[in-house]
Amino acid sequence: MNKWATVRKDFPILDQMVRGHPLVYLDNAATTQKPVDVIEALCRFYENDNSNVHRGLHELSHRSTVAYEDARDKVAAFLNAKHREEIVFTRGATEAVNLVARTWGDANVSPGDVIVLTEMEHHSNLVPWQMLAERRGARIEYIPVTGFDGQLNLDSLDKMFHGPVKLLACTHVSNVFGTINPVKEVIRRAHHHGITTLVDAAQSAGHMPVDVAELDCDFLVCSGHKMAAPTGIGVLFGRIEILQRMPPFHGGGEMIDQVRYDKSTFKAPPMRFEAGTPPIAGAIGLGAAIGYIEKLGREAIAKHDAELGDLARRGLAEIPGVRVLGPASGGAGVVSFDIEGVHAHDLVTFADQVGIALRGGHHCTMPLHRKLGLASSSRASFYVYNTLSEVECFLESVEDAIGFFSGR
Ligand code: PMP
Repeated sequence: MNKWATVRKDFPILDQMVRGHPLVYLDNAATTQKPVDVIEALCRFYENDNSNVHRGLHELSHRSTVAYEDARDKVAAFLNAKHREEIVFTRGATEAVNLVARTWGDANVSPGDVIVLTEMEHHSNLVPWQMLAERRGARIEYIPVTGFDGQLNLDSLDKMFHGPVKLLACTHVSNVFGTINPVKEVIRRAHHHGITTLVDAAQSAGHMPVDVAELDCDFLVCSGHKMAAPTGIGVLFGRIEILQRMPPFHGGGEMIDQVRYDKSTFKAPPMRFEAGTPPIAGAIGLGAAIGYIEKLGREAIAKHDAELGDLARRGLAEIPGVRVLGPASGGAGVVSFDIEGVHAHDLVTFADQVGIALRGGHHCTMPLHRKLGLASSSRASFYVYNTLSEVECFLESVEDAIGFFSGR
């Protein structure tokens, strides 16, 4: 048995039948499953150490605090951040983007300024910037997508960056096309114009090496539940000099230095941005997930996901009536497609009848789908436990669905 086949045993949820068929879970871009390492770390925490952090003087509080702060160290090392204080725990990638928009954005974006995004952003990395632009009288420009092949057209990038641009926010891996964007190059060009940069690593952090020093980004956001960790935990990386100048996001306990009836002062980052009881168990689960991912190796995971992605793309491209969204090769393990005459929801429901979990809809990229002239698309996305035979099973069910819906 190869390494990837044994990995399945680490994920208890996969060992089940759905509608009489072995579960084939291909909705990993939405959320991944959790390995025993993570489940046990959560159980251990709740069975032995559960307490609130940073405030108690008793033993359990001490243990919880150590475990929570240890998770911060693990994330800092995982992303290659220079300082542990550059890691802020949030509820998810969405909250991390909102944090930056509300704090850095409100303080730094002025009327007439421009925020540059790409046409392939998830709503999480689009709507918070629209809200900021509206609050501050700024405007948004979009780096265009070439079309169904899902590439960024960088031809007019320098011209775009010449304007009053304050921020460039770009996804590392598209949750629709699976494109691995040249974020390092885009950031280099943005910095040349003094523009602050944010990378949405929600689809990359658990799948391939992501190194904030190498990318040279100012902010990076990612999401625990898309990288084998629990829901309710996310990460904001921010360059320390920038975080130190940012006002708080939420007000409340833990983020304060002194509170008086008329005025409060605030702690330094990261505590300034972690008001109230943080997602303690989530952070500990994320630390365990990082340990698990490191055990498999991020380069190896990237290769595995890309192999499954390429097999799916090639197989889909051969099926008459199927149009693949995204690059023909060289993409990540996220593959969206459109079937002539078959609605995405019908395909997903059909596949579900044989235990295959897919995604159908706009994948939180309504403007992108509108640009492509699609109301929706179907998506298969892969992770460490998926196998070549599952991809084949998926391709078969697409063919069967086309036969069924076309009455063939
Ligand atoms: N960005 C991208 C590219 C995503 O795919 C997602 C989740 N679908 C998000 C952001 C939002 O992440 P979260 O669920 O952690 O808020």
